[in-house]
Amino acid sequence: MSRQRPEVGSEQFKCDSSQVLHQFRPFNNDVTGNRPRDAADLHTRRDRSVKTPQRSRTMNFQVSAQEEAVEKFLDAASRGDLTQVSTLLTHGPSLINQTGNNGWTALMLAARNGHFHVVEALLSNGCDKFSVNGSAQTAYDIAKFWGHKHVSNLLSRTDDGCQRVLPGCDLGQQENYFGRETLDRLSAKRTDKAWLEAKQSDADTVYLIFSKLSPMVTSPQDDSTGGENKLCRFRFEAVQDLLQKPATVLVFLGVERRKKPSSSSPSQTKEGVQEPPAWFAVGRDEDAAELLKRCREKNCSFPKAPNRDLLKLSEEEAGVVAQARSVLAWHSRYSFCPTCGSSTKLEEAGHKRSCLNSACRSLQGVHNTCYPRIETSPLID
Ligand SMILES: [Zn+2]
Repeated sequence: MSRQRPEVGSEQFKCDSSQVLHQFRPFNNDVTGNRPRDAADLHTRRDRSVKTPQRSRTMNFQVSAQEEAVEKFLDAASRGDLTQVSTLLTHGPSLINQTGNNGWTALMLAARNGHFHVVEALLSNGCDKFSVNGSAQTAYDIAKFWGHKHVSNLLSRTDDGCQRVLPGCDLGQQENYFGRETLDRLSAKRTDKAWLEAKQSDADTVYLIFSKLSPMVTSPQDDSTGGENKLCRFRFEAVQDLLQKPATVLVFLGVERRKKPSSSSPSQTKEGVQEPPAWFAVGRDEDAAELLKRCREKNCSFPKAPNRDLLKLSEEEAGVVAQARSVLAWHSRYSFCPTCGSSTKLEEAGHKRSCLNSACRSLQGVHNTCYPRIETSPLID
């Protein structure tokens, strides 16, 4: 596997800040006009790190005091000159995150050449170890690539003076809105018809009604307050008649997650443990206005612009809606068998479509055409 090497520094010569600075000065080409950029030029300028005054005269180069300081600083870091790095930082703390050619910082140069103590000093002075060069490499990437393990280990630590931390270390787990798993999907129960039937008529079971993939929600009376939308929740009696209609799609979403029983009540019998409520999604594409009349809440609607309105739900409800929408969208698009084109019927609590043509190949073995993709897609229109 090939890997992109840092463009500054090669196996032939150690990385030298003079190469980095080749393009650092903003007017180098304008001022010098015909500056050669071949290897010999690089070599010449590599040697000039100790002959800066002469070079300045011969090249007639206008360099501001600040640029000169940055050049010295990057050069010192590149050479591993801890004393000079420290001295320059004392006089000019702002040098610490300055960059040379292609975005290379002093930290990157020190990391490239394996100068542990310089890297350590830069970190303790609060440098930004997350900045990237023109090739999107951090100092850590560079040290790791060039085999300076002691330096890469140092850079991967989080207890230095840096303000931020490496992603994935002690950063909280990243979460997607619409990605929260509020319910335990209990997919093994999808084929347990007796359990599902009992759950459907259970008094605690929650039904959500969807029309054209939009869930019925109740909005705050005064929209200017920016309050949350809430899902309208129904009991079995309120949707019982809908479940009998052939055009209704019923999807078992899962059961509410509950904390494990505390150890103080180990004697609780299985019968004594109440099962958490189950949730179902009811999808209907017709009679949206009639459906709204079923709700006792005020200000109910099926949001017309789900991309915007669904963002007003709580994260818990948004996760449920995303899951339901993804399955309902699949049903709305795959009404017919992708293998033979025949009609299909719902199975497995709304998580499978089976072909009604008994001769269809999709009935033999397991086929991905019979199941929805399982990633949630809240933004399906
Ligand atoms: Zn078929």
